[in-house]
Amino acid sequence: MTSQASTAWHHGTQETCWEKLDVDAAGLSSLAAAARLQRYGPNTLPASGSQNPVLRFIAHFNSALIYFLFAAAAAAFALGHAVDGGVILAVVLVNAIVGFVQEGKAEKALDAIRDMIAPIAVAMRDGARTCVAVADLVPGDVVVIEAGARVPADLRLIRARGLLIDEALLTGESVAAAKDDMADDKAGLSVDTALGDRRNMAFSGTLVAAGQATAMVVETGNGTQIGRITTLLQSVETIATPLLLQIEAFARRFTWIVGAGTILLLAFAVLARGYAWPDALIAVVALAVGVIPEGLPAVITITMAVGVQRMAARNVVIRKLPAVETLGATTVICTDKTGTLTRNEMTARRLVTVSHNLVISGVGYAPEGRLETAEVDDDDTSALASAMPLLRCGLLCNEAALSLDKGKWRVIGDPMEGALITLGCKAGLDAAHVRSEWPRIDEIPFDAGHRYMAALHCGPAGEMFAFVKGAPEALLAMGEPADRDRWLKAIAVAGEQGERVLAFGSKRLEPARARLASEDLDGVEFLGIVGFIDPPRPEAIAAIAECRAAGIQVKMITGDHAGTALAIARQLALSDEPECMTGTDLDAVTDANLASHVQRVSVFARTNPEHKLRIVRALQADGEIVAMTGDGVNDAPSLKAADVGTAMGDKGTEAAKEAADIVLLDDNFASIVAAVHEGRAVYDNIRKVIVWTLPTNGGETLAVLLAIIIGFELPLTATQILWTNLLLASTLGLALAFEPPELGLMQRRPRPSSAPLLSSALAIRVVITSIGLAAIILGLFFWATANGRDLATARTMLVNAVMVCGIVYLFIVRFMHMTPVGWRSAVGSPALLISIATVTLAQLAFTYAPVMHWLFESRSLSVQDWIAILMAGSAALLMSEGEKLFRSGVIYFKDRTKRRADAS
Ligand code: ATP
Repeated sequence: MTSQASTAWHHGTQETCWEKLDVDAAGLSSLAAAARLQRYGPNTLPASGSQNPVLRFIAHFNSALIYFLFAAAAAAFALGHAVDGGVILAVVLVNAIVGFVQEGKAEKALDAIRDMIAPIAVAMRDGARTCVAVADLVPGDVVVIEAGARVPADLRLIRARGLLIDEALLTGESVAAAKDDMADDKAGLSVDTALGDRRNMAFSGTLVAAGQATAMVVETGNGTQIGRITTLLQSVETIATPLLLQIEAFARRFTWIVGAGTILLLAFAVLARGYAWPDALIAVVALAVGVIPEGLPAVITITMAVGVQRMAARNVVIRKLPAVETLGATTVICTDKTGTLTRNEMTARRLVTVSHNLVISGVGYAPEGRLETAEVDDDDTSALASAMPLLRCGLLCNEAALSLDKGKWRVIGDPMEGALITLGCKAGLDAAHVRSEWPRIDEIPFDAGHRYMAALHCGPAGEMFAFVKGAPEALLAMGEPADRDRWLKAIAVAGEQGERVLAFGSKRLEPARARLASEDLDGVEFLGIVGFIDPPRPEAIAAIAECRAAGIQVKMITGDHAGTALAIARQLALSDEPECMTGTDLDAVTDANLASHVQRVSVFARTNPEHKLRIVRALQADGEIVAMTGDGVNDAPSLKAADVGTAMGDKGTEAAKEAADIVLLDDNFASIVAAVHEGRAVYDNIRKVIVWTLPTNGGETLAVLLAIIIGFELPLTATQILWTNLLLASTLGLALAFEPPELGLMQRRPRPSSAPLLSSALAIRVVITSIGLAAIILGLFFWATANGRDLATARTMLVNAVMVCGIVYLFIVRFMHMTPVGWRSAVGSPALLISIATVTLAQLAFTYAPVMHWLFESRSLSVQDWIAILMAGSAALLMSEGEKLFRSGVIYFKDRTKRRADAS
């Protein structure tokens, strides 16, 4: 559509809009839609211009560390050490290239994952409701929008019910605007109506706060209001998490400290040790370069990206990267019930009418089964007759349809409503026939706030009836049935069996009315109840057991009845003795008192979204890290407040997804637990990377530092240190990012969120290992020089020994918590084996290639030299294992002392 025409879509009647769009209320055929898509292009806004690759590459040189290395290279060149200067520059370049390529890969992977939750719209295509990618909408499509959805394009409303739209994005107005189809208006709005007052329009990108509507798409892509105001709708999320920022800040501070230390050391070497200052400069530069873990931030970014991809493979899309860390620390998961813990496959099992109790046979949505009386001496025919008004109400007050797909019956729409159609069929009623006899005039859509749905229908003789179905409490509140106690008992009995209960009612209204309001439902006649079974998902039962073993509490927060929720909680073994609180109970306690309940209670029933928010806050006040699921528009505040807001990918609204940190593609509780598992693995791997990197860098640094302070020949040159650092970080360090989760990861307690990345025990281990490695390296150095090796050969042996120790220590670090089981886990992942092979080849080149001899002053080694190197590696192994043994001995004795103290 031209932008000229677009300004006037609010003007004129709906008919003029249909004409302009050249369609009618039935919408488009898929063929016509495809042709229009060709003509108008996709309904997308230009991407927010991902950063220019050259700029992205240059950004890799923008760090204090790199400046330091540049200064070192300049100093080396100035002093005539051209090779050293060249190697330093090469290292800087290689580091930037590795970072650039890996970051690009990670970004791409994240983009692809984000596409997995691309928004979907419901449109009429070929005369039927169809799910269509928002990008494929074209002018002329007829779409349905509901509370929680983002408006997918600019729309002219055809029929709106209680529609409120938050247009802050366009108008800055924070109060949601009331919308109206203005169907009876002859002229529409005047041409110059301001954007914020165009109440017969809905604009792309705004959020439906309440109600529902059918509308025609009038503008797409750049033709929409948002498309014309800005081309930047969503900013690209960069790979930055609190942990990563913390590590980068640490690296920056460290670089400055190292810089200052370098200057002091330089002064010491020249003034106190009498070094010639060019030699001293090169030595301290080597030291500084050795101690700074330049590869660390890149490796940690990659570890995160690997985690994100693993989670995607398990149906969890990370929307906000910090969630990867937080998931690993989660202590409580609050989840809804229907569809997440249960299958959301409903079967009507029980029907109670004013006079009879009936049971229904058959499973699933197939219309095979019978309605029979529950009592032996009762008569089936009269029982069925008494159920007819309820069954008809169930078919009319119903938006769903059933379809037979490859021999399997499926529901299009709400599963409970689908089950009501099946129930009708089992009783001999055809939904299509009943619906054509009783046309729909108006409706009040289901809303989790009022928990009922009502519809106004006109019968064959022109009589008007309101039909209503919903939570029994909601219907009992509308009219006071005489046998209230009998109903309450029937509801409790069904709830105890874990059945979901719906109540049904009807009311005759005066003829020829066109609208239904909630007041019209006062005094509704109570027709009866239906109990539905919705079995727990087997994988949810297993996942809950896993959570309990992992020290994670699971809380069910549901809109369902307390009895039903408790019965399902027992089937799922949510806790030993599940306790329940209802929304009413929650309203009766203050926030301060709530804290004392939330730990104990594991089932919250008949809750509304505000209750969810209070529960999250109470748990957080108690120091818990909370993951919370949600799907509705009103769940957004609690999803934002939770530490890991979790939206449903399938039944979740756009509003919930946007507020969430993670999205579950399959709406399955087991997927959250899988994500927690992966989150723990990522955190473990980051710790492993650090615990491995620091001592390998630290050991060689310490050796060089001692050489300067004591005043003997440097055991490694500056370029050799650079070589080892680069090779270690980009091969072995990187391999740790791909480590699979350790066995028993879900048998540990959650890590306290305040725990530092490097606990004091680990820090001590880093220091001890650094000292040990320095001792091994220096021992080898002195042995080699004392046994007739020249300096260059001794240094070559040392570089190789550092690599061997790096590999040995890598295997030690891999098993931070577990002991290797079987040789597969002992040997390691493919990434690990590839990186070890790479290091080996690179070291052979380092040792034997003439060009490396020239660049790094390395020398060829003899077999005897290699034996000495491998012995140094064995010493490293013995040292680390000894330290582990010592540590477990200390723990054992501490435990024993404690046990004895406890016993006495
Ligand atoms: P959860 O929050 O665990 O998903 P839920 O699906 O039961 O639980 P809601 O969808 O808020 O939560 O439903 C609350 C209650 O509203 C239900 O227990 C039922 O009584 C009633 N209800 C649900 N769907 C409908 C519907 N389509 N029409 C009428 N009433 C409904």
